[in-house]
Amino acid sequence: MTSNLEFLEVPRTDPPKKPASERSKVFGEIYTQFDSHTASGQAGRCLHCGNPYCEWECPVHNYIPNWLKLVKEGNLLAAAELSHQTNSLPEICGRVCPQDRLCEGACTLNTNSDGSEAFGAITIGAIEKYISDQAFQQGWRPDMSGVVDSGKKVAIIGAGPAGLGCADILVRNGVNAVVFDRYPEIGGLLTFGIPEFKLEKSVVQNRRQVLEGMGVEFHLNTEVGRDVEFQQMLDEYDAVFLGMGTYSYMRGGFNGEDLPGVYDALPYLISNINHRMGWQADDTESFVDFKGKRVVVLGGGDTAMDCNRTAIRQGAASVSCAYRRDETNMPGSKREVTNAKEEGVQFLWNRQPVGVIGVDRVEGVKLVTTRLGEPDQRGRRKPEVVKGSEQIIPADCVVIAFGFRPSPPAWLQHLDIALDEQRRVLAPADGRYPYQTSYAKIFAGGDMVRGSDLVVRAVYEGRQAAQGILDFLDV
Ligand code: FAD
Ligand code: SF4
Repeated sequence: MTSNLEFLEVPRTDPPKKPASERSKVFGEIYTQFDSHTASGQAGRCLHCGNPYCEWECPVHNYIPNWLKLVKEGNLLAAAELSHQTNSLPEICGRVCPQDRLCEGACTLNTNSDGSEAFGAITIGAIEKYISDQAFQQGWRPDMSGVVDSGKKVAIIGAGPAGLGCADILVRNGVNAVVFDRYPEIGGLLTFGIPEFKLEKSVVQNRRQVLEGMGVEFHLNTEVGRDVEFQQMLDEYDAVFLGMGTYSYMRGGFNGEDLPGVYDALPYLISNINHRMGWQADDTESFVDFKGKRVVVLGGGDTAMDCNRTAIRQGAASVSCAYRRDETNMPGSKREVTNAKEEGVQFLWNRQPVGVIGVDRVEGVKLVTTRLGEPDQRGRRKPEVVKGSEQIIPADCVVIAFGFRPSPPAWLQHLDIALDEQRRVLAPADGRYPYQTSYAKIFAGGDMVRGSDLVVRAVYEGRQAAQGILDFLDV
């Protein structure tokens, strides 16, 4: 490790947050400005420790210490160029990655070997976002001047992070990338899932302009299997990439789940996004408004946190979130749990729902208390019910946020594309061509291959699959 004690004088500085009271009223970014002074101060704390654990823990293996050095030197455009070499959506990952579990969790400055707080990790995510935001503002765009047209064309189904990552690599290698999506805007769950207060929609729209400028073609409002036949793509394109996500909602299987007033998480979030953005001319039927209501959210992942914080912003009378494990064992990002707490969400840890109560509509949720037992096959301690611990908490509305199951369309199965036992598309990373399915010219990646996961992992798989397609097409 190089001797560099300067960092001791510069503490970790997170981008300052707006006060929780103000955040609840406004529907905008929760962070205030992260300026060049803070960015270079944070970048200058990097020890260049010789073992860049941050790079390994980052799923796209960003060249983090190298771009930190460029930021410290004030060479922002070179940093943007470098950050785009490994990540197709750096400004988005910088905003939505759970950095505490990834790059920042691995930073040498993060914790001591005994687990106690050391100096605080470098704010890698905030710097990654800062680099691209600033470079775009200064007019920087990826350099496509050396690209030679290969004469090949590839259809991409799904304009989510996986599809966009795939398109980025293909056009950079002279392959015509044509992206189809059933939604009117690109982004997949970035646009129709993750709320505006975590990721501004204008950021995704800007990325659309950047990709179009690079030559990516988007065919939106086009559902494959309904508006256009999949067979047509197989006939007309040299290869096809599937990045269609996972969209079957998981349910608890208890009484009362179908009562009026019970909502699945994603339709609730999407109705709110459409309403906020004015994307649906008349949404009186579909918009779900929790103003003045007592809301109970069931689940402990990032989707549950998004529902909690959306309900707070809608002016709910109260928002409680019940999760069957304790706080330490929640799957959601710690940052999101902290934000939700600051904004007024009441957490009910170690509580498992066993029924929704009501006659004509929801009146409450029946919960039992749990304690953590032995670890299951994945090493997670299983919650066990404490006998006689039933309680009913009053509720006007309930949101079920138990996650998603793969939803491969029927036309895919007619082609004999192999699925695993959980109905995820089989597309191995270590096959002859990475992410190739059992049908030679069809590749796949993202949530439909790995199950619900993270934006950055979907981007990585889309990029890797594009490399597989390039090898397959011999480009
Ligand atoms: P998707 O983003 O789901 O995109 C799939 C696209 O395929 C969609 O646009 C869909 O319309 C399109 N499509 C599907 N079928 C067809 C068809 N037949 N024809 C045409 N188009 C089709 N991850 C994080 O890293 N950080 C977070 O903070 C975070 N928050 C989340 C919050 C919520 C509410 C949810 C639901 C997920 C969150 N995630 C988060 C997870 C992340 O969004 C996903 O892992 C990621 O979007 C998966 O990318 P993908 O490209 O595989 O699929
Ligand atoms: Fe960290 Fe995510 Fe950026 Fe990687 S992509 S450096 S994990 S914020």
